[in-house]
Amino acid sequence: MLTTGPRGTRDVLPGESGFWQYVEAVARDTCRRFAYREIRTPIFEHTELFLRGIGETTDIVEKEMYTFCDRGNRSLTLRPENTAAVVRSFLEHKLYSEPMPVKLYYIGPMFRYDRPQAGRYRQFHQFGIEAIGAKGPAIDAEVIVLAEEFLHTLGLRDLDLKINTVGCPACRPQYRQALREYLAGKLEHLCQDCRTRYERNPLRVLDCKEEQCSRQITDAPKVVDHLCRDCAEHFAGLQELLTAAGVKYELAPRLVRGLDYYTNTAFEIQYPPLGAQSAVCGGGRYDGLIEECGGVPTPGIGFAIGLERVILALEKQNLLPASDLAVDVFFAPLGAAALPAAFRLLTRLRAAGLVCEMDFLGRSLKGQLKHAARCQAKYVAILGENELTAGKILLRDMRTGEQRLVDLLEGENSLLAEVRA
Ligand code: AMP
Repeated sequence: MLTTGPRGTRDVLPGESGFWQYVEAVARDTCRRFAYREIRTPIFEHTELFLRGIGETTDIVEKEMYTFCDRGNRSLTLRPENTAAVVRSFLEHKLYSEPMPVKLYYIGPMFRYDRPQAGRYRQFHQFGIEAIGAKGPAIDAEVIVLAEEFLHTLGLRDLDLKINTVGCPACRPQYRQALREYLAGKLEHLCQDCRTRYERNPLRVLDCKEEQCSRQITDAPKVVDHLCRDCAEHFAGLQELLTAAGVKYELAPRLVRGLDYYTNTAFEIQYPPLGAQSAVCGGGRYDGLIEECGGVPTPGIGFAIGLERVILALEKQNLLPASDLAVDVFFAPLGAAALPAAFRLLTRLRAAGLVCEMDFLGRSLKGQLKHAARCQAKYVAILGENELTAGKILLRDMRTGEQRLVDLLEGENSLLAEVRA
């Protein structure tokens, strides 16, 4: 127990953290270029927020939340996603008084009691954006283009963007009815969960991952054939803008989000080689959510991208950056007398921006050189008694093996010049 982390969690080890910093930096830069600003909300919220904001009939709320009572007997939940929390913060801090749309992004851990496997964890990380306050299809297109731009900047290829519309509260009841009628004769072939979904939320049957259910819905009626005029125009407008931006997409009539506050656009980006966990990005419009959370009706759209899956995809395509371990100067003071002079110079060079390392274990010169090689040091600065008396430092170029005596007094400048050359 003490030497194993909880099931479904992962440590990002020093060898991997550079990948995460890289991916996060690309996410931040992409958001900067699209004028989205970062929001950081707490990792736990009142449970009630997720019951409302995600929906009581969803798998997340029914089966996957980490909910606990704190010492003051409040029910709190580790956030399983972040849209509800962003909306809560938007309302709490009256961000609606800013010019609309309010464009926000976040990066951070989410928690779901999922069945762990490759690409699926109980603590995982999402990069997500939310654009609140604009109704037309242009913002939908921007949100999708941002997701694509992020993934393409990382160099990822072979991604499939799938889009659909789920209509709105005006046209969905009619579609729901058509779907119910279609499913009525097939109930015995559906999985247990889908029989319940049929009663409570039949759209979610379309989304079921069980093969027995996918077989039954091949000829199911499509939402696009039951849209009201506004929704049809919205969807057509989105497609026109995606085409204008040069984004390739596929129509996916069975891509749905089952709850009433999800409206119009739904989309997903998949990387098929990730198999069962191929969804890298999921997003959609939620024009009813802000009202559901207690605000005045305000439209919104967003996405969330799973960063573990992005890193798995980068690994598969050999796109992870090389490790940045390399040290500019490794200091090898020989003997206690040399240490303060070496430490002084090391401190100054670090302050000037060089990556410096030294021996902390009192190794022999041979041991220090070996250690310097392991640190991929470009130079080793050797400071022994002779050098100290002469006011010099012996600088060894680790690539060529060449050694030169450099004036210790001017060491800082000459080392800087040497390493930067
Ligand atoms: P969702 O919030 O369910 O729409 O998920 C958005 C994205 O988050 C998915 O496309 C995945 O990339 C990622 N994701 C969701 N659940 C998990 C999980 N349990 N482990 C890792 N990534 C996840």
